[in-house]
Amino acid sequence: MFQDIEPYSFSNDFAWVDPEPADRVLIYRGNKVVVRNQDSTDEPLHFPSYEVLLEKGVVGPQVVAEKEDCAIPVRTDGVKPRGLLLFTVGETAYFRCEIKESALDALLETEEWVLLPVGQLRNYAPKYRAFAGMVGYEYHAWYDTRHYCGRCGTKMQHGIVERMLQCPKCGCMEFSRLFPAVIVGIVDRQRDRVLVSRYAGREYTSYALIAGFSEMGETVEQTVHREVMEEVGLKVTNLRYYKSQPWPPSSSLLFGFFCDLDGESSITLDDHELEEAEWISRDELPDDEDYSLTREMMGVLRRGEETHYPVAFYG
Ligand SMILES: [Zn+2]
Repeated sequence: MFQDIEPYSFSNDFAWVDPEPADRVLIYRGNKVVVRNQDSTDEPLHFPSYEVLLEKGVVGPQVVAEKEDCAIPVRTDGVKPRGLLLFTVGETAYFRCEIKESALDALLETEEWVLLPVGQLRNYAPKYRAFAGMVGYEYHAWYDTRHYCGRCGTKMQHGIVERMLQCPKCGCMEFSRLFPAVIVGIVDRQRDRVLVSRYAGREYTSYALIAGFSEMGETVEQTVHREVMEEVGLKVTNLRYYKSQPWPPSSSLLFGFFCDLDGESSITLDDHELEEAEWISRDELPDDEDYSLTREMMGVLRRGEETHYPVAFYG
């Protein structure tokens, strides 16, 4: 899966440190990220270093952001940070910095650096850098929508000891935002077939598994039962937890479950959500499980290995 970056390790330990010249700065505009221009996806992916951006006046002590989405809030002690350490991947530290938009425009005009849609990072190597670009987007999506207090509208400030934002007026706190969701591989044991779906109104039209977000007050196991009933009108049993996966495009944490059909197998489709859902034989499942939890689970189902994982005591 995209987060499997061994032998490199991911660390999001929180610390206030200034960026070093060779550290990388992740800059997003909408759903695009600044990368070095390259002729093909065969060339290694590069994000700009702090040094390069400093030289071009895009970041640095004198930089004042001209737009909200390029600005870094002050800390609760009043200090204006030069950069915010997001995480490290292997030896490389990745920062979010205050950006001078006009200097960035000038840099992009040179065509040495370009904006790449985050969704295309999956096609680039090395994998651990593509991972950094994806996860950085998740941080960006959070910070960029948390400039003001949701309760009183005051500008938020960075916490000192942990990753959080706090309102100096009413004390409202914001911690990084994650939406838990489930991916469900359903097996009809009697007829040895599996349920696949396609989503309505989405570009991505190949097979998917049943999926949905958890709602307040429920466990992920309850989410499995509710989503399966809502989307295809089926009862399931014998939930087997498989693995989880962070999914930055939707700020989700995905929990993969296999389960067995319990009773009637005829599908009642929720056509607001799904375009179609059908039972197919295992060998019709796609066999390209490199990137997503869904695809990896399809590989497990294809090989009939889902029973290798124990049935959950609850659920
Ligand atoms: Zn407030």
